[in-house]
Amino acid sequence: MSEGVEQLHPQIYRIPAPFGNGVVEIYVLVGKQVALIDSGVKDTVPRYVEPALATLNLKLSDVDWVLHTHAHPDHSGGDEYVKANSQAKFAVHSADVPTTKGPESFMESPHDISQLVRLAGRPDLVATRRQFLHANVGAEVAPDRLLADGDEVDLGRGLVLRVFHTPGHTPGATSFYWEREGFLFSGDSFQVRGSTPGWLPLYFYAGDYMRSATRMAEVPARTVCMAHGYNAGRWPNVPVRRGRGAGEVFRESLQVSQTIDAAVAKVRAASDKADFLSFTKAVLAEVQYDLPVLLDRDLGVGLHSLASVHAHYALQTGHPWSTE
Ligand SMILES: [Zn+2]
Ligand SMILES: [Zn+2]
Repeated sequence: MSEGVEQLHPQIYRIPAPFGNGVVEIYVLVGKQVALIDSGVKDTVPRYVEPALATLNLKLSDVDWVLHTHAHPDHSGGDEYVKANSQAKFAVHSADVPTTKGPESFMESPHDISQLVRLAGRPDLVATRRQFLHANVGAEVAPDRLLADGDEVDLGRGLVLRVFHTPGHTPGATSFYWEREGFLFSGDSFQVRGSTPGWLPLYFYAGDYMRSATRMAEVPARTVCMAHGYNAGRWPNVPVRRGRGAGEVFRESLQVSQTIDAAVAKVRAASDKADFLSFTKAVLAEVQYDLPVLLDRDLGVGLHSLASVHAHYALQTGHPWSTE
């Protein structure tokens, strides 16, 4: 097995795939059929997944399914390449279909970074985002199967996944649960303190996020396989949590959200609103006693922090910032 491929189970492998400033984890599931959990960005599959598959005596043409945890650039950007080089079918939750239509489909999406930098009053960074999307996201690949909560994906050889709709990060965020072995593939659905130390977790729909975390805390997953290494109080940024650490992912994700929610409420009550960047800074000044905060020299606040602060603002007021 090549360096960089981790066997988590006789039928499950993890492939860490660097992109931009981060790393996305691709999981390979081997039943009678072979599935990839997510496809990464445009070059993830040729650069990282195909060499990893070769060490498992598999080829890309052996892949039957790409199961999407959600349609974000670092999870579905590689679909076009997979489509062109295999017979694989693509599955995604129906609520994330709008962002399966190529790089431009993200630019107007309410759950893309482009909306956050607009909120922050930085139109120059909108252009940077567009560049990133065109460099990293392939052309539209229409899904073959639309996922819904409670669905089953049977890959054969006992590998049966139950679909949990776990919205919050995106509207169609999905987790796949292999009950027999206690494996849960949660994508970006639960982020504890987020992927970048000092930035808040990245989610766009706060009420959904907290409901999803509450619900999944009841699922007795023994191994949680996430799409990035998420930071937590007692745990380093590792993408796979086992045993007791598995359940803590959901409880701590909920606690972090509650902390942000309380800070947003306090700042809303205490201050006149100036602009969204100042509002977010005031929220971070409040949460810094409970969560690590790292400010950004250029933007002022951590990019992802804008998302969750805005999500809680929208939850509490019932509308996005711009329309107040
Ligand atoms: Zn995402
Ligand atoms: Zn991601």
